[in-house]
Amino acid sequence: MTKEKTEKHEFQAEVRRLMDIVINSLYTDKEIFIRELVSNASDALEKLRYIQLTDKEIYDEALPLEIEISTSSEDSTITFTDYGVGMSRKELVENLGTIARSGSRSFFEAMEKGGTEGGDLIGQFGVGFYSSFMVADSVEVVTRGYRKNSEHLIWRSGGDGVFEITKGKGHRRGTKVVVSLREDTKEYSDPDVIRDILRKYSAFVPFPLKLNGKQINTTEAVWLRSKSEITDQEYGGFYRFQTNSFDEPRYRLHFSSEAPIDMNVLLFVPEDNMERLGFGRVDSGVSLYSRRVLIDASPKNLLPEWARFLKGVVDSADIPLNISRETMQDSSLVKKLNSAITKRFIKFLEQSSADDPQSYGDFYGKFGFFIKEGVASDFEHREQLRGLLRFESSRRGEGELVSFEDYLSGMGEGQEEIYYLFGSARETLENGPHMEFFRSEDIEVLFIYEPIDEFVMSTLGEYEEKKIVSADSVDIGVADRDAESSSEEEKSLCGWMKEVLGERVGDVRMSRRLVESPAAAFNSDSTMTQGMKRIMKNISAGADMRSVVRLEINGDHALIKNLVSMREKDGEFAAIIVEQLFDNALLAAGYMENPGSMVGRINRLLERLSSG
Ligand code: ADP
Ligand code: MG
Repeated sequence: MTKEKTEKHEFQAEVRRLMDIVINSLYTDKEIFIRELVSNASDALEKLRYIQLTDKEIYDEALPLEIEISTSSEDSTITFTDYGVGMSRKELVENLGTIARSGSRSFFEAMEKGGTEGGDLIGQFGVGFYSSFMVADSVEVVTRGYRKNSEHLIWRSGGDGVFEITKGKGHRRGTKVVVSLREDTKEYSDPDVIRDILRKYSAFVPFPLKLNGKQINTTEAVWLRSKSEITDQEYGGFYRFQTNSFDEPRYRLHFSSEAPIDMNVLLFVPEDNMERLGFGRVDSGVSLYSRRVLIDASPKNLLPEWARFLKGVVDSADIPLNISRETMQDSSLVKKLNSAITKRFIKFLEQSSADDPQSYGDFYGKFGFFIKEGVASDFEHREQLRGLLRFESSRRGEGELVSFEDYLSGMGEGQEEIYYLFGSARETLENGPHMEFFRSEDIEVLFIYEPIDEFVMSTLGEYEEKKIVSADSVDIGVADRDAESSSEEEKSLCGWMKEVLGERVGDVRMSRRLVESPAAAFNSDSTMTQGMKRIMKNISAGADMRSVVRLEINGDHALIKNLVSMREKDGEFAAIIVEQLFDNALLAAGYMENPGSMVGRINRLLERLSSG
């Protein structure tokens, strides 16, 4: 045994918790530790291959880039050896003692959020290296960095909160992970069991993978093969391997071209949108390769920000191998790839929607936010992207979606604008006063429910030269009416109501739009919808965002007729009714910020009513 001094370390508190969970977990698929350790070995080899492009000073240069797994049922161990980059002392402490990396971090965050003990999340996220403690009594990591002067080190832990690092002997580059199995997990020293597991998870490792000396994979890159020769199963398997996930991709796009840029592209849309599930902003999952050499696993600028939900591979032989990642990210070549791939992907989505609107609808329900973000922020692709937008509409049932194109084709003679209405729920919108007119005229209105939808509508402004207008706006083309046609009596009523309401209302008018409601509030600020105002107010507190509201009243409604006589009889009480009428209109329009404030007045009205 070595006489070198042994350094003792404590795991970071978060790691200790994580390991506790992992060790005590009843999680049934403990076998995923194999996938995790193989994928670490593969990552280490990818890194070395990349370094080899530029750095000629590599220790043990002649060692093959491969992964060796050996089992010993006698010792009850399974060992993973790679000739990759290895780790320095500092890296050992950081990488295998803290939660610095993204995978276990999101596992951890999901656990904190969900308040669960994490068992059922292990499979969803993978917990990286620490998953070995699901099966191990102890784990030993023997490693030597690729630099000529690197140390040979041994890391050891029994999963009991501490690990130790000792200087070792030996001279091979890379990392060997020896997992000493527990009594109840001995099966993982059986080569037949391991072979099946490797076939299941690690068939796509791009380096020779050997089990007890025998290679068990082909290392052909899937994305370079011809489409017709790849089965759905292979695609799915590659996707899961690449993303460390268990789901089935909902879409895939595989194409290649030689001119003007050489590229082989394989993209996947996952089953679920992790951001929507609350796991924070995801990193781009499309890796950049050049002739099968991984250049960058998560390159910036290869695709637009909004496309960050995509997974897959872009391989371009035009990428110079000796370029630094930073220079590469800003290169004109990457810009060209970005533009070509994005256009192609948007076309692909258009086609998918045409082929199977229902599954596109499902995609849109989960990933629509990214499309909207693209429309709002990606100037280059806005035109193309807006064709991908979908909306609920007053003419369709709940959940049925229409595009702008669908809307245009359903427009009647003389309609020159596209109408939409923003609200928290379909029912509110359908029953609200703003729909009365559109329903009576059989004009379609798009329903939108999220602030970003309003933002998208205002950003677009128009579609095919048709103005996009909020249905609660005073100046909609179809409902022009002049106040002049009101009678003297009506004018006097409006004037008086305006006096009662004062500053709060821009003006009060007789309406020809209302059918059932006594009154309704409209937005008379042509520059901004009411919803946008609320957003602005939240962004810059204190900014003067007083609503410019028009109250329109329905002269045919009994309440308005009664108001005329009530005003004569008891002006003070009539004024209270006007106030309440106005608040009701604000509430129905979704303009009211603090509905609680009207409870006192309602009680006063009830008091009067109940007095008989
Ligand atoms: P991840 O692979 O997602 O980064 P892991 O927990 O699997 O997380 O591994 C943590 C880190 O430990 C890796 O990022 C890597 O830096 C280092 N590491 C693990 N295994 C190896 C290995 N075989 N060779 C070199 N470094 C490794
Ligand atoms: Mg890993």
